[in-house]
Amino acid sequence: MFSFPRDEERRRMVDLQIAARGIHDPRVLSAMRETPRHLFIPPPYDRAAYDDCPLPIGNGQTISQPYIVALMTELIHPKLGDNILEIGAGSGYQAMILATIVKKVTTIERISEVANLARRNLVALHCNNVEVVIGDGTLGYPKNAPYDGIIITAATPQVPPPLIDQMADGGRLVAPVGGREIQELIVLEKRGGKVIQNLHGGVRFVPLIGEHGWEN
Ligand code: SAM
Repeated sequence: MFSFPRDEERRRMVDLQIAARGIHDPRVLSAMRETPRHLFIPPPYDRAAYDDCPLPIGNGQTISQPYIVALMTELIHPKLGDNILEIGAGSGYQAMILATIVKKVTTIERISEVANLARRNLVALHCNNVEVVIGDGTLGYPKNAPYDGIIITAATPQVPPPLIDQMADGGRLVAPVGGREIQELIVLEKRGGKVIQNLHGGVRFVPLIGEHGWEN
């Protein structure tokens, strides 16, 4: 394993912001402890990488608050052999956290400059099980489907129907669904063709722009 500076800040972030708020999955805690979040955030905001908040990454986009990344990762129930789809690559940080735990991650980003930031960050950390795709993630990515988990890291008025079609049986989907400003974190579970929904509290995300999301 590589060694990065700021380990102590990361340990405190995990203890005080994540474990203390009820995230228990040891694989999620360990991925958050190992992944150098500061290397995903362009300066000058990298200095605040371990603060309890989202931060700007350029092009009007953000990297989510560490606790929300951990919560969404835990809600997916990630397992070693899983094939996961993320919508909204952003900095690539959420994809790397997932990639530390599962077999394969496909992440879609609509802004090419942002997708290239994610690619650079993942290459710099020798992460070779994430595929970054440029496009409208509301359409999913049928080529790599079906997915054991789908995570949408932007606010959507509804769960895009193509994403439900691309879930494996037994698969889970986590998404912030609601208005452009405030949303509810929902989890869908697909079982025998039926989809069950659970709610997990209020969140705030930048909008998902696309055919089955918001208008630009
Ligand atoms: N997961 C990211 C990370 O770890 O840094 C943070 C994601 S950021 C909150 C939301 C991202 O979703 C933005 O980069 C935005 O450009 C992207 N986005 C918005 N609509 C999209 C769409 N239809 N398809 C793909 N990406 C989209």
